[in-house]
Amino acid sequence: MKKITVLAGGVGGARFVRGLLHELTATGHDADVTVVVNTGDDVWLDGLRVCPDLDTVMYTLGGGIHEDQGWGRTGESRRTSAEIAAYGRGWPWFTLGDLDLATHIVRTDLLRSGSTLSEATAFLCRRWQPGARLLPMSDQPVETHVRLVADVDEHAAGDLIHFEEWWVRYRAHVEVSEFVQVGLASATAAPGVVDSILEADLVVLPPSNPVVSLGTILAVPGVREALQTTAAPVVGVSPIIGGQAVRGMAGHCLQTIGVATSAAGVGLHYGSRASGGVLDAWLVDETDAASLPALTAAGIRAAAVPLWMHDVPTTASIAAEVLAISLR
Ligand code: GDP
Ligand code: CA
Repeated sequence: MKKITVLAGGVGGARFVRGLLHELTATGHDADVTVVVNTGDDVWLDGLRVCPDLDTVMYTLGGGIHEDQGWGRTGESRRTSAEIAAYGRGWPWFTLGDLDLATHIVRTDLLRSGSTLSEATAFLCRRWQPGARLLPMSDQPVETHVRLVADVDEHAAGDLIHFEEWWVRYRAHVEVSEFVQVGLASATAAPGVVDSILEADLVVLPPSNPVVSLGTILAVPGVREALQTTAAPVVGVSPIIGGQAVRGMAGHCLQTIGVATSAAGVGLHYGSRASGGVLDAWLVDETDAASLPALTAAGIRAAAVPLWMHDVPTTASIAAEVLAISLR
């Protein structure tokens, strides 16, 4: 039995893991997959604990995701959200579908009765049967905020606002100076997170946002150290293709922390394990083959293969490349 641990954000991480599970099944591999999920996007909204990345992974793997949106449930209405907006409450620009709201109600009920987020997640997954073990990165709230450079709406320059407000309300088009993980100082990795990395046969950094998804998980005490010391190979997949953050605004995040929006830029930002980083190998898209020498020179095994996750079969092929380069 092979153990594979994947660190994941929302859409990119979820789609990759779905392809990985498909590939493992198709090739008859008997593997245990653990997904350590970013909870930096979590937020209290309308009295409910919303965990966007955990839910995207759970719905994607469990067959309930709204495929075109990448988040929320297929076939849900916005009637409840519209009613909340009619009271002038909530975030009108962050609509939650009514089927999705049921998940947040159940989760909040469990948390209020004393369950940890890990326990609440395991409970929700009993229904969704995602085919992998889903672990929140931490049971303590660690919420990513951004610091505004200039006044915008009711916020003043220098204020911290929740990442989701910057991302969804402002589409990342408002300049920010830094990302701050509120709560990180007193947070610990959730049960099983560090062990799942140390005891793995393979660790994967899928094409998730390197700053606010994987960067946040890596900042949780003990996680980066576990990646540096595990005996397992650590393989990453570039979320940047041809200098573009595909399907999203990750380029704005990279720009804020001074990292080039390129396959090599992100690979070098993670760095090779031999030089204090977290990667043994890094897959770039075939259109980014020119970046291979720079990565190799930095001690990272690299290969150029198609990295568009168009559908489950193409994503399974990416997972097959991850498995292949991990053995080289
Ligand atoms: P989020 O939390 O929903 O933003 O999801 P993640 O952090 O897991 O992943 C978002 C990132 O996935 C985006 O910023 C893109 O860079 C990357 N991404 C999305 N679709 C693709 C794809 O088809 N191929 C690759 N290589 N990356 C992708
Ligand atoms: Ca996210």
